[in-house]
Amino acid sequence: MLIVQKYGGSSVGDAQRIKRVAERIAGVKNEGHDLVVVVSAMGDTTDHLIELVKSVTSSPGEREMDMVLSTGEQVSIALLAMAVKDRGLDAISMTGSQAGIYTDGVHTKARIREIQCDRVKGELAAGKVVIVAGFQGLNGTGDITTLGRGGSDTTAVALAIALGADLCEIYTDVDGVYTADPRVVKNARKLETISYDEMLELAHLGAQVLHPRSVELAKIYKIKLQVRNSFNHNPGTIVKEENDMEKSMVVTGVAHDLNVARIGLFDVPDRPGIAWKVFRALAGEHINVDMIIQSAMRNGINDISFTVATTDLQKALTVMEKIKDDVGFSGYTWDDGIAKVSIVGAGMATNPGVAARMFEALARRNINLEMISTSEIRISCIIKADQALEAVGALHDTFGLADGAEN
Ligand code: ADP
Ligand code: ASP
Ligand code: MG
Repeated sequence: MLIVQKYGGSSVGDAQRIKRVAERIAGVKNEGHDLVVVVSAMGDTTDHLIELVKSVTSSPGEREMDMVLSTGEQVSIALLAMAVKDRGLDAISMTGSQAGIYTDGVHTKARIREIQCDRVKGELAAGKVVIVAGFQGLNGTGDITTLGRGGSDTTAVALAIALGADLCEIYTDVDGVYTADPRVVKNARKLETISYDEMLELAHLGAQVLHPRSVELAKIYKIKLQVRNSFNHNPGTIVKEENDMEKSMVVTGVAHDLNVARIGLFDVPDRPGIAWKVFRALAGEHINVDMIIQSAMRNGINDISFTVATTDLQKALTVMEKIKDDVGFSGYTWDDGIAKVSIVGAGMATNPGVAARMFEALARRNINLEMISTSEIRISCIIKADQALEAVGALHDTFGLADGAEN
């Protein structure tokens, strides 16, 4: 079998852990499998690199940011290759560019366009364990790009697709995908399986266990994806197409996201083309907009509010300042003290009353809903950030997610 494994930051957090991962790799290789291993930067290295940048400048520029951010993974791949070699196996480390990973030009949020994997295939054929830096690639002009925080998962799935791998295993610091973040909800339950669609929603809604684009790619190319704990040999969670068992569950999981900020525009003229101008300007800066609410029109003007990632807030405010006069709104506010809590479940589409149960659970805890949005398989609410964890616990209880019975 050809297996792609990915080890996250905590799994390679120190020398001891790198050696343990090398042992695990040796075990798989000695069973006769071919192995490509994608690695993240050690521990909190990426966070520290960002802090370091901030201590030098408040406007680093995204190209230079990527130059700094990509260094973390370069250290971990080389150390892991050395540790694997120490176990008598042949291994080679490769940066994104050496592995032929090409992306678009959007620094800090690049998307993989193609992988030219001849070199990786050659090294595999020569019997080596190939260890690839996650989270990075090369754009059309030969500059280093990064894929967005948590992007190593996407490197792994993209490599699994390009190489026609039989399996992609994501190793992290929890046993699999749970009904809620196990660090927040103590009685969260590990799911044996979850559908691509539900996992995609959870990932987009803040469950950081998988990078959303890794799930997107796995779904399109039907890659068998497994989330496992690098610290034990438990079976983990399989992400796959259908999920008969979980279908009877109205709600499969709860997610929360603290990386959310709201911008409100006042006195926006109520004319065709106004929303287009605002959101085109944001899209032009590669800023994703999530929820959008427009108030009822009074005297030919509206208020419009929308949410962006907190990490994009400053950039979005600069855009608002730039377009204010042209679009003709009188002013704007922002709030980064908010969070999004969501429930996700494939059974929701056919079960009325789920929203009411969610809103009741939050109301009983005096949690105010500032914005609401829904899709067929999810409901999300914007609430105050300091109530987010309480809300997650309340929703997990209300839908009985700890025991796994029908809800
Ligand atoms: P890695 O460094 O291995 O990529 P991440 O920190 O990116 O690890 O993702 C793993 C973390 O995701 C877990 O430690 C857990 O706290 C968090 N998490 C959030 N939601 C979930 C969930 N529904 N299931 C499992 N883990 C979750
Ligand atoms: N090291 C990067 C990050 O911390 C990528 C990853 O871990 O997936 O976001
Ligand atoms: Mg991650």
